[in-house]
Amino acid sequence: CGIVGYIGTQQAAPLLLEGLGRLEHRGYDSAGMAVLGTAGALRVAKRSGRVRDLAEELPARFGGKVGIGHTRWATHGPATDHNAHPHTDVAGRVAVVHNGILDNASSLRAMLTDEGVELSSDTDTEVIAHLVARSGADTLEGRVADALSAVEGTYGLAVVHADFPDRIVVARNGSPLIVGVGDKEMHVASDLAALVRYTTTVAYLDDGEMATVTAQGFTTYRHDTAQLHRTHRDASRVD
Ligand code: GLU
Repeated sequence: CGIVGYIGTQQAAPLLLEGLGRLEHRGYDSAGMAVLGTAGALRVAKRSGRVRDLAEELPARFGGKVGIGHTRWATHGPATDHNAHPHTDVAGRVAVVHNGILDNASSLRAMLTDEGVELSSDTDTEVIAHLVARSGADTLEGRVADALSAVEGTYGLAVVHADFPDRIVVARNGSPLIVGVGDKEMHVASDLAALVRYTTTVAYLDDGEMATVTAQGFTTYRHDTAQLHRTHRDASRVD
């Protein structure tokens, strides 16, 4: 339902909580976040209930300057703690938040189960984390593009990976995704309401487009082509 992300010079967790609070008006049943710590650890906190319930339970040592957050409105699987986003791969190195609906989730779940992957939720979203983890591509962008080539359906999504701690990769197909440009920091969100407090310089992704977001800026690509194809997109001011 709602996506936020932050990469920059400040602690991510409080900013993600604040952003999630600004998405509450859209309705949701669960909330969660993943933060990349400086020592390369990926930490996830998520639960059914309100953003303030998540805030109360957030461990004090949830430190890190890169993170993604989500408010979920369940489509696949009930509103439980396990089904809340972010979803991770088995090794806990990849975290994904997703808005939308994957149409071929059950066949992908069956394929992964056949390969020996133990799924830990009932969601369609979780397959994306495992697909990113099993891709052999060199870059995170390549791994996310690999995963997206296997899924059918709608998504706005954000991915962080403990092996690529300097970036958030986001993608859009039928569900909005916005990159917000700051000073040595960048935000991402599914809704302008979560960004305007920090920046009014934004770029909207197109369907079939993904972006690499680092603390310094962003780069966009088309992922619906055989090879990742760089696109040129400027951020512009909104009022
Ligand atoms: N289909 C996903 C789920 O049920 C995402 C729902 C949403 O957009 O919040 O977990």
